Amino acid sequence: MMPNDTLSKVLYIDLSKKKFETKDRRDLFEKYLGGTGVATQLLLEECPEGLNPLHPDAPIIFAVGPLTGVFPLASKTCAMFKSPHTGDLGESHAGGRSAIAIRMAGYGAIVIKGASEIPVYLTIQGGKVKFKNATTLWGMKDGSIPARVMRQNEKGEGLRAIFRIGTAGENLVTYSNVTTETYRHFGRLGLGAVFGSKKLKGMVISGKQMIEVNNKKEYRNLYDQIYKTATESPIMKKYHDVGTAINIKALNFIKALPVKNLQFSSSESIEPVSGESIAQHHLARRVACAHCPVACIHLAFLREPYDDDPYFYKTSPVCYDFELIYSLGTMVGIDEPTNLLKLIDIVEQVGVDAMSMGVILAWMTEMYERKMISPDDLDGTEIKWGDSDAYIEIVRKIVNPTTDFLKACSRGVDHAANQYGGKEFAMQFGKNEMAGYHTGPSGYLGFLLGARHSHLDNGGYSIDQKDLIKIDLTAQQVVDKLLEEEAIRQILSSVAVCFFARGIYDLKMVSEALKLLGYDLSDTRLAEIGKQIHLNKYTFKMREGFRFEKLDIPERIYETADPTGKITRKFIHEGINYAKSLID
Ligand code: SF4
Repeated sequence: MMPNDTLSKVLYIDLSKKKFETKDRRDLFEKYLGGTGVATQLLLEECPEGLNPLHPDAPIIFAVGPLTGVFPLASKTCAMFKSPHTGDLGESHAGGRSAIAIRMAGYGAIVIKGASEIPVYLTIQGGKVKFKNATTLWGMKDGSIPARVMRQNEKGEGLRAIFRIGTAGENLVTYSNVTTETYRHFGRLGLGAVFGSKKLKGMVISGKQMIEVNNKKEYRNLYDQIYKTATESPIMKKYHDVGTAINIKALNFIKALPVKNLQFSSSESIEPVSGESIAQHHLARRVACAHCPVACIHLAFLREPYDDDPYFYKTSPVCYDFELIYSLGTMVGIDEPTNLLKLIDIVEQVGVDAMSMGVILAWMTEMYERKMISPDDLDGTEIKWGDSDAYIEIVRKIVNPTTDFLKACSRGVDHAANQYGGKEFAMQFGKNEMAGYHTGPSGYLGFLLGARHSHLDNGGYSIDQKDLIKIDLTAQQVVDKLLEEEAIRQILSSVAVCFFARGIYDLKMVSEALKLLGYDLSDTRLAEIGKQIHLNKYTFKMREGFRFEKLDIPERIYETADPTGKITRKFIHEGINYAKSLID
């Protein structure tokens, strides 16, 4: 790396003592680049074995990478923590302005430990950290208001990002999220609850640091090449035009879209909530993360009449994408766009992960239909597929639970199903609720074996669609492909590039870009580093009790038709056993 690069500076913040210090961790950044690579090492260093994820000593780590602030689409911040949702590796990525602000503030990583006695928010600017009283912001129903207050109070210099939690995080819902710049989230695995346990309402971070490059002319050329590919080639066009929501119709067509808790894998009534239809009738504008020329963030306008004047409308922008339409739409039987947007809006306001919430609502609806729970368990609410008003009530009740059942639901579908039954249709993998892909066995092996049990770990669903249908892969060959892809993705999230740009940033391109920042790493060497980072994650997982043989698999996946016809117990278990022989 360049001699004066501030990327190697790690800011350590202690919320209990209201103190902070900066350490130079060139040792970590030279070995693991940044982002997920460095954050995993910091987690291994800072999180004592067996610690309750909500204990004050549990660390929150944010890390960015060498390409952050230098090349287009290097827009992601990696958050690392012990997950209160799974008790395992907690990792979540978000864009917005978060990554560039951390880099411009002069840091490569931030480690937050301890807990405040009263609610606080942090301001990080000009090498200083301030601990601000957030008592008046705690408990506000609409999570966007504290962000507005912080924005108003903290002017800051240079590029600024604001992080905040909602009431779900304050109330320690284990799948609560952290929002940055209104529409981006550290969504999965409960970072919001870790913030809440520390009485940390949010953070404002800003800076205007310069970043040096080796050769300005070559830098300009490479920058232009990446920019042009992102904006003029077909590689990223779909993300801008209709966005990931384009997958709704495609997956429905091949019978890979989870409908009504995956009782079905397609529906005849999805047209109004397809990406194309929402774009045509409701799209208001697109926005982008900082340093991204693609703008894949799609905002629809939700228009709702005020109670006392039917001709006067409240208009709110609501962000939507494939995962939101699946989890809060098809998974719970909502096929009317305004009702879908209303449910998304409430999930956004309380600050929970949409995929987890959607899967829990879907499981709960099936439990209710089968009379395995009663209206009393739901504190009087009656639910049925597609009833968005009932679901909105339930979301609020889960965040402030008044019954034991709702309390159990605030800890995830696996936790609730262990207490109330229905495990065979509780759609979780490694205790993380599923993403919207019933594409075949590679998708499920991807969820089960990925370090954070996320579809983004290894993109198993695309192996089903590209390879498994055409070529007869064995379970072992699928696992080899998953592990290879997951190792490559470790590099992308260590240099902190958006995964949507993986068609541009192959390892050769990453190697070229790093050269201009003073690194001499071939694509082969990068692949080796990626493998090592992946193994380091498994070191943490095993240390904290993860075991391949303990993975629960909901029976439902074997019962519902899929495009490959190959989701069998034999295939899935062969895959798990093979992965165990390689990693354990
Ligand atoms: S493609 Fe989308 S998610 Fe990725 S950096 Fe751009 S706006 Fe952000």
